[in-house]
Amino acid sequence: MNVLSATPWSGLPLRRLPAALLLGLLLSCAATATEDPADDPPRDQAPRPIAPNVDLKEVTRPPEPAEPIAEADVMGPPLPAPAEAESFILLGREVPPGVATRLSWTPDGGISGLASPTPVLAINGANPGPTLCLTAAVHGDELNGIEIVRRVMYDIEPERLHGRIVGVPIVNLDGFRRGSRYLSDRRDLNRHFPGNPGGSLASRMAHSLLNQVLKQCDFLVDIHTGSLRRANLPQVRADMRRDDAVEFTRGFGHIVVLHSPGASGMLRRAAQNQGLVSVTLEVGESQRLQAKPVTAGVRAINRLLQHQRMYPRLFPLGSPEPVYYESLWLRAPVGGILLNEVRLGAYITQGQQLGAVVDPITNARKPIEAQVTGRLIGMAVSQVVMPGFAAYHIGIEASAEDPLETEDLEPLSEAELIDDEAADGEVDPEE
Ligand SMILES: [Zn+2]
Repeated sequence: MNVLSATPWSGLPLRRLPAALLLGLLLSCAATATEDPADDPPRDQAPRPIAPNVDLKEVTRPPEPAEPIAEADVMGPPLPAPAEAESFILLGREVPPGVATRLSWTPDGGISGLASPTPVLAINGANPGPTLCLTAAVHGDELNGIEIVRRVMYDIEPERLHGRIVGVPIVNLDGFRRGSRYLSDRRDLNRHFPGNPGGSLASRMAHSLLNQVLKQCDFLVDIHTGSLRRANLPQVRADMRRDDAVEFTRGFGHIVVLHSPGASGMLRRAAQNQGLVSVTLEVGESQRLQAKPVTAGVRAINRLLQHQRMYPRLFPLGSPEPVYYESLWLRAPVGGILLNEVRLGAYITQGQQLGAVVDPITNARKPIEAQVTGRLIGMAVSQVVMPGFAAYHIGIEASAEDPLETEDLEPLSEAELIDDEAADGEVDPEE
């Protein structure tokens, strides 16, 4: 019995639909899963509805003709789950051990009659273990993370999983639909955590995500990209003053790890304050889907799952350690057209010219030179820039145990030390 064919999400020959339609179908079908209030009793009332077992890898297969099925079939065949593994209660549903399913989270706020449930993928492993949460597109125009969550989660066999994985591929569905980083109230959701149920739309949504979904997690990987036509080398950002965060970053294998406490209002910081071990995974540019960065992100998370002993794989654990960095930004000294002379990921030396800002009218040319030796872990693509635009993000190698404090650096004449994620948020005029 193909369980999928009996779920409310199926009913169309999926193989013939283009990807965009499939996504629309996924979203609208998630809506049907919760639009009947009677279907979704308050969470503290028993019994909770059992989540159907959806084989995530079979989602693109044409479903069998719909036919009524017995309740017992919805659960799929009995699984050899050890007695220790327990049901997972999420969003008012019970996800038994060995089950992968799709749930939906309806953020508080907005017009309730027009509420758009946000799809949540959940896998409860047949074996006990921790809960890892993956969030992407908190900024609606950051596409790489959406694809990373899809690839990671659809590659998991629940029978082999130790613990649980919860994925919210598109947190900011509203911004995603409009191709925008922001919510419809023009706020940056990632500056409003932990949120407030009586606050602004962004604040209510942040509060809802944190309390309805993320409080269930032990670990959080929040996936982002550079903003405003900036590209980030695949990198993990974590508060390296915390021992649990340091240990967690070791799981990602050979990747850049940047010490960054995180700005106020960020999901990563709020989740950390709730007791989760929480990091940001930055991968590439916004508004693009980039094959290589996505592959790097998928590999890093799969490596993490193995390191955490959540999902055994064939490749050996002994892959190289991360490389730890502190960082600083170089800003455009004047406005004009930024022309890059280096590539993302390049190792650069102090005094090296990274690019220049040229004035298209006067032909004046202002070079930008590296103030320190390090690695280019983020950069703006060539574009028109205003004075002060954060153009080059330089990583300076540090040790995991003793992260370099940026205050220890020599005073810089043209470089300004700013919080790395503040650069991402500098366009937010309100907060
Ligand atoms: Zn982002």
